[in-house]
Amino acid sequence: MISVFGSANMDLVAYVAKAPGRGETVTGHRFRTVPGGKGANQAIAAARAGAEVAFLGAVGDDGFGAELRATLAAAGVDVRGLREVPGPSGIAHIVVDDDGGNSIIVVPGANGAVTGPSGADLAAIAGSQALLLQLELPLPAVTAAAQAGQVAGVPVILTPAPAQPLPDELLEAVTMIVPNEHEAAAITGVTGPEAALDALLDLVEEAVITLGAAGALYGARTGERLRVPAAEVKAVDTTAAGDTFVGALAAARAEGQPVAAALRFASAAAALSVQREGASTSMPTRPEIDASLL
Ligand code: ATP
Repeated sequence: MISVFGSANMDLVAYVAKAPGRGETVTGHRFRTVPGGKGANQAIAAARAGAEVAFLGAVGDDGFGAELRATLAAAGVDVRGLREVPGPSGIAHIVVDDDGGNSIIVVPGANGAVTGPSGADLAAIAGSQALLLQLELPLPAVTAAAQAGQVAGVPVILTPAPAQPLPDELLEAVTMIVPNEHEAAAITGVTGPEAALDALLDLVEEAVITLGAAGALYGARTGERLRVPAAEVKAVDTTAAGDTFVGALAAARAEGQPVAAALRFASAAAALSVQREGASTSMPTRPEIDASLL
């Protein structure tokens, strides 16, 4: 089982030719709400990719919360660790432009009420093959969960997004970090993926830097280095490409796939997700991923 201790947000997505600048109003062509949040996205991606997944987090007592719970459950995710707290659920305000690029504002809502893993969360984490973390819950809560994973000998996989300074006690408990290029540069202060990868491996045992359409770069302290290409596809919406990559990677690793195969699997899943709109709505199923690998 994979545990995901993280955020659930309702994504409020506006589609527009070109995102507005400051003080500018533009007319978009479409709007829709899509269940998301990095934690929920990774949980759904891993479940669709074939893993048994438990989601640990919080939603508010509003309609968005009920919809988020239902969406996770419909994807086959165990939601017994998803609590309901008074007030609004987290939301993400997302602008998608015609080139498939996005800009995002996250308002944490109920996610901000998660002050740390509960007793039940700790039991779930200890019984997991991997723990997935992101930075959309309060940092002390993320750190406490990472430490619980480390104590239990569970591999801790961190997506360091949204980018922010990472305390040493968090990094010390992380097994694998999976930043995109910008996050890798922000964490290490080093530009260029190869150099940033070396700097990340001073901090953690394994690292993957995702490079959008250029694929991903993997490294481990053992000295292993792999470059994983991305499939050449037409991207219509890259929202949650990184979360799809991580969820699928964790699913493949939990099955015991060797790292090179797991990275190819993750890259295939992410390439499928960018060809569809939305976050949870864009994530491929296991048969779809397997078919694209043939
Ligand atoms: P997001 O924040 O949009 O979820 P990210 O910035 O975290 O994404 P990226 O590095 O952009 O992460 O993408 C993650 C992975 O998704 C890449 O490593 C790649 O495998 C896949 N991917 C992203 N964009 C494309 C694309 N245009 N074509 C094919 N694969 C892509």
